[in-house]
Amino acid sequence: MRTVTVLGSTGSIGCSTVDLLEQARDQFRVRALVGGSNAAKLAEQAKSLKAELAVVADEKAFEELRTLLAGSGTEVACGRAAVIAAAGLPADWTMAAITGAAGLEPTLAAVKNGKSIALANKEALVCAGDVMLRAVADAGATLLPVDSEHNAIAQAMADKQADQVAKIILTASGGPFRKASLEEIEAATPAQALKHPTWSMGAKISIDSATMFNKGLEVIEAARIFGLTEDRIDVLVHPQSVVHGWCNIRMAA
Ligand code: NDP
Repeated sequence: MRTVTVLGSTGSIGCSTVDLLEQARDQFRVRALVGGSNAAKLAEQAKSLKAELAVVADEKAFEELRTLLAGSGTEVACGRAAVIAAAGLPADWTMAAITGAAGLEPTLAAVKNGKSIALANKEALVCAGDVMLRAVADAGATLLPVDSEHNAIAQAMADKQADQVAKIILTASGGPFRKASLEEIEAATPAQALKHPTWSMGAKISIDSATMFNKGLEVIEAARIFGLTEDRIDVLVHPQSVVHGWCNIRMAA
């Protein structure tokens, strides 16, 4: 049985991960589930997966979590330090899906275990790429990209190294405002921006996708993960969202 920790278990990526773990209960033991403030969802997940530990970052949500998990056998904790400590508990596999820069320290703590890290939290690589990659190398950890574009490219590159890659292409759906005029975009409401035409995702990444800012973050993420300079990374708007990533391999001379 492999041990697993899910950071950001109550979010969009986290709930999908919990869903998969629920379908493979005999293969995984859940070491820790970590959420931000949604104590009710976290408690439900912890009970379902018999997690050893459930941690909520928001101290105001702790009492609710403690009450909901009383007598369940799951240990509970709260606060930033507890989040980082939970991330640092030995686990064979960690899903790093806390959103934004708040995910950096917990993801780094998980990396230091030297095991497999499924990285959804691209912001950690964007804001501290060198620090992250050095920690991964020092610990002998494995970084598995969760972003679908990067995951597709990792599969397409297979055993090829960066110097064998001529170019990679990240695709973009174009988001809800692909056909909108500048005036329409200026007058858009948050509700319109959150209505992504293709994907159901958390609020931050949906807004970042509506402005195309997310694709900028993904270019930086790809440069870090694959060791490519940014002139070898292109973005192509592909509204059908069928192809997620493309990799041109150099032909041997
Ligand atoms: P959500 O907003 O749906 O979920 C974020 C998760 O992080 C929630 O569990 C939230 O807890 C938790 N959280 C927020 N702040 C803190 C904190 N300070 N400490 C601990 N936990 C915290 O986001 P997504 O699941 O959409 O995205 C997660 C990451 O994955 C992002 O970096 C995003 O860019 C990336 N990603 C997402 C994709 C998607 O399809 N959703 C696709 C590709 C990448 P709570 O809800 O309890 O407050």
